[in-house]
Amino acid sequence: MSMRELVVLGTASQAPTRQRNHNGYLLRWDDEVILFDPGEGSQRQMLHTGITATDLTRICVTHFHGDHCLGLPGMIQRLSLDRVPRPVAVHFPAGGAEYFARLRHASSFYETAELAVEPIDADGQRITLGIGTLEARRLRHPIETYGYRLVEPDGCRMLPERLAAYGIAGPDVGRLLRDGHLDRDGRRITRDEVSVTRPGQRFAFVMDTGLCDGVYALAEHADLLVIESTFLESEAALAAEVGHLTAGQAARVAAESGVRTLVLTHFSQRYADPRRFHDEAREHFTGDLVIAEDLLTVPVPPRRVPSPG
Ligand SMILES: [Zn+2]
Repeated sequence: MSMRELVVLGTASQAPTRQRNHNGYLLRWDDEVILFDPGEGSQRQMLHTGITATDLTRICVTHFHGDHCLGLPGMIQRLSLDRVPRPVAVHFPAGGAEYFARLRHASSFYETAELAVEPIDADGQRITLGIGTLEARRLRHPIETYGYRLVEPDGCRMLPERLAAYGIAGPDVGRLLRDGHLDRDGRRITRDEVSVTRPGQRFAFVMDTGLCDGVYALAEHADLLVIESTFLESEAALAAEVGHLTAGQAARVAAESGVRTLVLTHFSQRYADPRRFHDEAREHFTGDLVIAEDLLTVPVPPRRVPSPG
């Protein structure tokens, strides 16, 4: 079975703490390994995960505040040091291209790695990957910020017993799959009669934002949602002012969007006890709830049960 999981590198917003490294996240999804928002220290945190720079296929940056991008210089130089054998795609808000250029060449190094730089310059921009579609949505924050979601298309799983009942075998199976139907003994057999839908999976990554349409668009029916909850409700006014979410808001988004596993992260250093995020979120969200910790691995939940065709 293919591996789909989130590996948390760090969970601190703004300033790291003794327990929390700056932000950073890895998503392992079949043959893609995507690094999101590498903050300072991400390179060293990766050492603890068993995932190496040469495993990376893609880097996604939501915005150019330091806690989401100051790990880029080290990671980019590491790609060259380790002689990554294939191009690594990089996505970031196009308006921050100057920041990216500076971070990319922050200091002298021997550049061998090839970066396929594809900035995001439109809300709803889609990038087609082998595993599905990567979509960027504009978020509400003082500087240009995009969240990302990965959407695997629904598939189709043939039911061997039904194929056998209709006497369909060999190349006819491929024909039925391709054409959607097969004519046999004067009767038309449709694909739906011999298959079930294999629901595609969704991952969403929402960082640094006040509540806005983009948050809901990204979270919709996510199997795994990683979302910032910098603050608690007691600081709701401050959160709104500076373009951040509270744990309660993030949990309500998840509940209203049909999220299955909710991962809260990007915590303000003012809160020492992570249970407070859990308790606040639990009031609104009854699904799987994870309060992220550094170096935690969170599996993408098993595929939703297929609906009968
Ligand atoms: Zn920010």
